[in-house]
Amino acid sequence: MIDKRRYNAIVVGLGAMGSATLCQLALRGWKVLGLEQFSPGHSLGSSHGDSRVIRETYFEHPLYVPLVQRAHDLWRELEERSGASLMTIGGGIMIGPPEGVVVSGTLRSAAEHDLPHEVLSPQATRERFPAFSLANDLVAVFDPRAGFLDPEACNTAHVSVARQAGAEARFNEPALGWMPDGAGVRVTTASGKYVADRLVLAGGAWNGELLRELHLPLTIERQSVFWLVPGSETESYDRSRFPIYAYEYKAGNICYGFPRLPRGVKASIMHGGETSQHPDRVRRTIDDSEAKPLRSALRSILPGLAKAAIRERDVCVFANTPDRDFIVDFHPQHPQVLVSSACSGHGFKFASALGEVQADLLTNGKSRFDLSAFRIDRWHA
Ligand SMILES: Cc1cc2nc3c(=O)[nH]c(=O)nc-3n(C[C@H](O)[C@H](O)[C@H](O)COP(=O)(O)OP(=O)(O)OC[C@H]3O[C@@H](n4cnc5c(N)ncnc54)[C@H](O)[C@@H]3O)c2cc1C
Repeated sequence: MIDKRRYNAIVVGLGAMGSATLCQLALRGWKVLGLEQFSPGHSLGSSHGDSRVIRETYFEHPLYVPLVQRAHDLWRELEERSGASLMTIGGGIMIGPPEGVVVSGTLRSAAEHDLPHEVLSPQATRERFPAFSLANDLVAVFDPRAGFLDPEACNTAHVSVARQAGAEARFNEPALGWMPDGAGVRVTTASGKYVADRLVLAGGAWNGELLRELHLPLTIERQSVFWLVPGSETESYDRSRFPIYAYEYKAGNICYGFPRLPRGVKASIMHGGETSQHPDRVRRTIDDSEAKPLRSALRSILPGLAKAAIRERDVCVFANTPDRDFIVDFHPQHPQVLVSSACSGHGFKFASALGEVQADLLTNGKSRFDLSAFRIDRWHA
């Protein structure tokens, strides 16, 4: 009798990274099972909240540019396969003092990869994007290939294309534990045991828990996000006139936001949130007084938005590494286990490409991308 609970690979976690990997493996004809502890589109992880920035220029490091270029193509491919609208490209501006990390890092990545971009003065920025009124000591770098993704729709599309290709995706079924089983793995849930040749741990903020024996230096960071409703000139927040933006309002401190979507004009401060060791201990309540630092940051670029009323607010979590680069690597003791983790607040845009990278690692043992910055043992080196 064929053992129906035996798979080529099991993917634990069906958020951004897990759903993409499940999809890519299923498209290659692998028999795959995805396990997700919560319902589709849940709001306890890192992939909810209606929008995620995608940009081609990458101030964090130019090494991410080839990966985001591949991700861009794969998001479009996923749109074709699923019939869903996932990515809107309307441009983005990276704002800050000329010598700051955002502007200088954006220009460095553009120069290194010969990316189209324009440097805009405060006046040129206002002429093109009327909601923005930049203080005189700031500049903006325009990235025409920036825009935003719909994270819930992206994850749904990956899971549905995976299912069409034969994958099994089980929601509300947490992986309670995993262990090596010969050259393969065994995963336990409340419904029983599943065995597979390979395991992908894509548990996002829960990966520290799934990999307790490795003592990874991960920090879970609470983020507060607000949807604002400007009181006047509301059309200047429409996507045709309002790009995504990242603004370095204080050395190394960044806020970012999106054009007006059905929930409002979303904005947030990146990092600087309360930290904990476990996502279950993150404070999930949120108070409007928490928007004070965001309002103060926005005042020198978007004065109208800085005083807008709050329509909605939400809490999300980052899983951070100390250097804010990801982990994409095999488990140091168990080569049949691939770890996909710790996207440190900037991973969503790459999910389509990382799904492909991870499927390449599992099926061919290698990827065409340089993954040396994402090694799991880099803190011990
Ligand atoms: C507020 C906010 C804004 C962001 N903005 C951007 C942005 O603009 N651009 C960008 O590129 N990135 C952004 N990010 C980062 C990006 O969203 C994350 O890097 C990405 O979503 C992480 O994906 P993931 O698959 O690792 O985690 P998740 O999407 O959280 O998925 C992990 C999944 O694993 C499941 N899981 C965990 N343990 C188990 C278990 N034992 N059994 C079964 N399932 C399990 C969880 O329930 C969860 O669904 C943002 C993040 C936040 C929080």
